[in-house]
Amino acid sequence: MRQLSAEAMSSWFAVMEHKLWVRPWETPPNQNNRVLGSGAEKLGIPIDAIRRNVKGCWNLGYCGMGCPTNAKQSMLLTAIPAALNRGATLYTRLRAERLRFSGGRISALDCMALRPDGIHPSGKRVQLRARHFVSAAGAIGSPALLLRSGVPDPHRLLGKRTFLHPVVISSALMPERVDAYAGAPQTLYSDFFLQQAAIDGPLGFKLETPPLHPVLYATTLQGFGAAHQALMREFTRVNVILALLRDGFNPESQGGQVRLGRDGLPVLDYPLGEVIWEAARRALLAMAEIQFAAGARAVTPVHETAPLYSSWAQAKKGIAELPLKPLLCRVVSAHVMGGCGMADAPQRGVVDHRGRHFWLGNLSVLDGSVFPTSLGANPQLSIYGLVARNASLLAADLSGRPPPLIP
Ligand SMILES: Cc1cc2nc3c(=O)[nH]c(=O)nc-3n(C[C@H](O)[C@H](O)[C@H](O)COP(=O)(O)OP(=O)(O)OC[C@H]3O[C@@H](n4cnc5c(N)ncnc54)[C@H](O)[C@@H]3O)c2cc1C
Repeated sequence: MRQLSAEAMSSWFAVMEHKLWVRPWETPPNQNNRVLGSGAEKLGIPIDAIRRNVKGCWNLGYCGMGCPTNAKQSMLLTAIPAALNRGATLYTRLRAERLRFSGGRISALDCMALRPDGIHPSGKRVQLRARHFVSAAGAIGSPALLLRSGVPDPHRLLGKRTFLHPVVISSALMPERVDAYAGAPQTLYSDFFLQQAAIDGPLGFKLETPPLHPVLYATTLQGFGAAHQALMREFTRVNVILALLRDGFNPESQGGQVRLGRDGLPVLDYPLGEVIWEAARRALLAMAEIQFAAGARAVTPVHETAPLYSSWAQAKKGIAELPLKPLLCRVVSAHVMGGCGMADAPQRGVVDHRGRHFWLGNLSVLDGSVFPTSLGANPQLSIYGLVARNASLLAADLSGRPPPLIP
């Protein structure tokens, strides 16, 4: 997309970094991140620091559960109050069900009101009318809304090429206390393994550490019964590293697909092909080597049949022979992208570079569903930057005023 060059986008990123307080994080990393840092350093693998969007952070480590001190500069504290101050009305507990359209324009959005639990329908229906409609329901919700509405899709692209940055996990027992639940969860990363081959070659991967709380660890960890209990007893000494695979560039990596279930709700299917498993094995090996280099006593890939390896030599041999299959090797994801991909022509995408739908004049899609591939980076900042640009262009179009001048 020639309109979205690094040069054209950098000022939009800068604006959002400023608005959302994205800054270098000066506090030393927690021990979980330090294991990644020290192991990588010993192996000569470059590591970098993650900037964080926090203001007055207490470094508690509960970011993923809703910041208890409101330090995280989420939409709840930033974009939503800003919109309300400008006169927007916010409807909560409302599920967008179907867009009504004719003659290339949307006339209304049918919504279902939900009970206070935010899940079950209350039985009340609401219809919203507007001059322009923006779908921002994410890479599962936006394709699902458009599919339910039966919007024009002559090239059958809607809901396809959904990317996840499939994640594989390596767990280590360290000699020291790690207390991985305490302190900012993600502060170091390495892109070294994203740069080892051409972007459309074997899948590269990014290394990070996850937030780690007892319930999250217990439900992700393999095994059950006494063996699981034995691993959980060591929880305070556990280090975990994640590898996020960069999907969507290799021709064999076509991603998944959002379809509608019988109840009209979205179902995402993501086939795990050989190109993913080959990268997963390399990633499990790389993480185990880093953990042993950092002094781990034992390492286990999060995999139903993987044992605890007590040396790098043992892990190297064991991981090379490990059967990698769905439900055996744990693959998780928190990054959903695609499904309403943007393109330079309607034969190739659902929306254009401004997020404008190719077939319905007053519909925009402004969220992570517009990415035509995965990103190879945690997606939020790219979504903020692109949405800031496209929302500003849309406001200029609708108001007749020029778009804001970005320095
Ligand atoms: C646990 C976790 C940790 C993460 N950590 C990071 C991180 O550290 N850094 C990073 O960059 N990214 C992170 N991500 C990813 C990031 O949160 C997402 O990529 C990003 O929020 C996607 O933005 P979006 O606008 O596309 O969709 P979303 O943020 O998912 O917003 C879509 C909204 O639409 C609503 N919706 C969906 N369907 C409907 C409907 N029919 N009617 C009404 N509303 C609907 C949803 O409830 C949701 O509120 C994380 C994700 C998870 C799950």
